[in-house]
Amino acid sequence: MSIIVQKYGGTSVGSIDKIKAVAERIIQRKLKGDDVVVVVSAMGKTTDLLIGMAKEISPNPNKRELDMLVSTGEQVSIALLAMALHEKGYDSVSLTGFQAGIKTEGAHTKNRITDIDIKNVKKHLKEGRIVVVAGFQGINESGDITTLGRGGSDTTAVALAARLKCRCEIYTDVEGVYSVDPRLYPNAHKLNSICYEEMMEMASLGAGVMETRAVEIGCKYNVPIYVAISHGAAQGTIIKEYDDTMEGKAITGLTVSDNVLMVTVNNVENRLKNIAIIFDRLAKHNVNIDMISQTAPFEGHINVSFTASMEDEYTIADITKELKKEMPNIKVCTDSSISKISVVGIGMMKQSGVAARVFNIFADNDIEFKQVTTSEISISYTVAAKDKQKAVMAIAKELEL
Ligand code: ASP
Ligand code: MG
Repeated sequence: MSIIVQKYGGTSVGSIDKIKAVAERIIQRKLKGDDVVVVVSAMGKTTDLLIGMAKEISPNPNKRELDMLVSTGEQVSIALLAMALHEKGYDSVSLTGFQAGIKTEGAHTKNRITDIDIKNVKKHLKEGRIVVVAGFQGINESGDITTLGRGGSDTTAVALAARLKCRCEIYTDVEGVYSVDPRLYPNAHKLNSICYEEMMEMASLGAGVMETRAVEIGCKYNVPIYVAISHGAAQGTIIKEYDDTMEGKAITGLTVSDNVLMVTVNNVENRLKNIAIIFDRLAKHNVNIDMISQTAPFEGHINVSFTASMEDEYTIADITKELKKEMPNIKVCTDSSISKISVVGIGMMKQSGVAARVFNIFADNDIEFKQVTTSEISISYTVAAKDKQKAVMAIAKELEL
């Protein structure tokens, strides 16, 4: 008999009927003889609705209270799922992050799991219960409820599997991991397997199917992660260590992120200290910077552009106000009509010429890009949102994704 962690996402538990169907699937697993720990997200669009309510009160709500608010979404679904399991005659218990021993640290709304005290979960499993844990939440050293960032239920699931030394199954509304989001490129193909490094890169660059931190934890503790559709039987994708059965093409996938805010600080006096001040201030407010570019000095002044995620829009506006007190001549522009397109593949480490191919595709299709960054296994380009679809189609077709 082994333990299995299963996670069901928001759409999979989006209605009472779907919760009942999920309960049925869990029972089928239990009947096979496995001990089942289930992690669930908030129902449907609940988290967005809760955030929307907070924003009606303040454009930048107090983050501790925001955590208190959004964590309620998962509590609704764990209780309903446990009830559905009881109703079908199976013993089950729902646990909040705190009750499941999930300890976190960091800034509110962006916490990280530091440890899981697994005692309570194990006790309930031993007593024969199906354990249903609220995803996305934990408790910090001050005893406050925290959340792990959007999509954080995946992290809860993989971290629990790491701690329980078992496999993790992520059930979602798509059939697995695709080379490209099929909504953007209908000819995309489903991958049978993908290695942790590629999946981490794809997740952090915008593939919504898995949360990045979850894959990082999977990689660190070697947890096999199986991603498949929750209501259906199609074969999904396994995320695991790289081995030579994998495709090994230069490019495995293409991802797109629309969650990009490009900020340009114009007319900065060309002193090294000024750049440091700008990025220090952003770091102090926990703004994650992605791409950075800078123009050559002109008459003693430079322009610096960087990208961050849209969630930090108001924090950046506050920082801008502060900066203007110290550098009264700067002019700050923000642009949210930006998309980031990235190509990812572990094969890129051994093959050259990928960047050149993409530059050619852009040239042939008359697509202008604003910034480019590379890592060992990816290349990212920011383009105007209006060019996104055209760029995706052209790259995916040319690279046979
Ligand atoms: N409910 C949270 C969110 O929508 C966490 C999750 O679904 O993974 O981001
Ligand atoms: Mg998700």
